[in-house]
Amino acid sequence: MHLRKTSILLLSFILFSCVQIFAFPKLPKEVRGFCIAAPQYNDVETFIQFIDNELATRKVNVLILRIDYNYQYTSHPELVTTQKRLGDNNNIAALSLTEMKKIVAACKKHNIILVPQVNLFGHQSWATTTSPLLKKYPQFDETPWVRMPENYKWPNADELYCKSYCPLHPEVHKIVFELVDEIMEVCETKHFHAGMDEVFYIGMNGCTRCAGLDRSKLFADEVNKINDHVNAKDGRLWIWGDRMIDGQETKLGMWEGSTNDTYRSIDMINKNVVINDWHYESSPKTAEMFAKKGFDVMMCPWRKADIAKQQVADYNAFKASSSGKAKKHYRGFIQTVWTSADNFLQYLNGTKKEEKFSTVECFKTLMSELNDN
Ligand SMILES: [Zn+2]
Repeated sequence: MHLRKTSILLLSFILFSCVQIFAFPKLPKEVRGFCIAAPQYNDVETFIQFIDNELATRKVNVLILRIDYNYQYTSHPELVTTQKRLGDNNNIAALSLTEMKKIVAACKKHNIILVPQVNLFGHQSWATTTSPLLKKYPQFDETPWVRMPENYKWPNADELYCKSYCPLHPEVHKIVFELVDEIMEVCETKHFHAGMDEVFYIGMNGCTRCAGLDRSKLFADEVNKINDHVNAKDGRLWIWGDRMIDGQETKLGMWEGSTNDTYRSIDMINKNVVINDWHYESSPKTAEMFAKKGFDVMMCPWRKADIAKQQVADYNAFKASSSGKAKKHYRGFIQTVWTSADNFLQYLNGTKKEEKFSTVECFKTLMSELNDN
């Protein structure tokens, strides 16, 4: 009788464990991803045609949509971009629920995993504009003494690239997690991208909470805190990988690597966080490093087709030569676009011309190289 009871308990435990494992959202075996800013309200229909005609036909299976505050959040209407629609003073320009649902439906139709991105921690300002979060809640600012300039220039005396929120402010997470919850629900997805790239303002000496603390630990703690929140909803967190790369050792520098002492976070961050390893000028072996550490990683080119080609060749060579566990963590590619959706769509249909480099060519080359895999 006792043995029977133990067996039932053991069986229940195994079943429970399986449910836990299966509840975790799976990635496609090989991600053919695309990352772009959310379209403006008047471009939604064109954007849906783009999903139908350009992404689905190229078998894109992940769409990272950089939404930030460009959605009409009901949990925090005070954080919605306040710009008004052209010729319509009653409506704000941020995407409505109806518009978002059209994008969600288009992705579902083609089995594309939608990964909404809201930048957390860093990227809380851009050039001369402060994001709604720090505008409405200036107490969250990691560097309140840094005034936003009238004309933005880099480099500058404040070393201001983008503002950050203070990850140790006791009230910041309640608010940002409500945004995370709402955007994941609206997008009907188990995936969330928190950005977390280029966090330059971190552990600042002028911050009473963060001064003197280990920046790698501060960064890792913030990633893990967001990850715990997303995991608790059976979801998966995605971030850019640059803060986890030693910018000096790899000679990749302060942008695509870290020279502000955050790179040791690689050994402190939960291994179920998905890493997007962006490199636009070369094809370093950093994705290999992430995979060997046990992170699912995707390589991310931008606007140089030859770099994308090299990255695919390196990806294939690594997969062919590796027999270890790292191989299964090499999970594909994300084409990144760093202009507005409207601009990119015009580049694509030829009504606008790209200067110097071609994101469109990079995208088409990457997808066709992946077809040969
Ligand atoms: Zn702080």
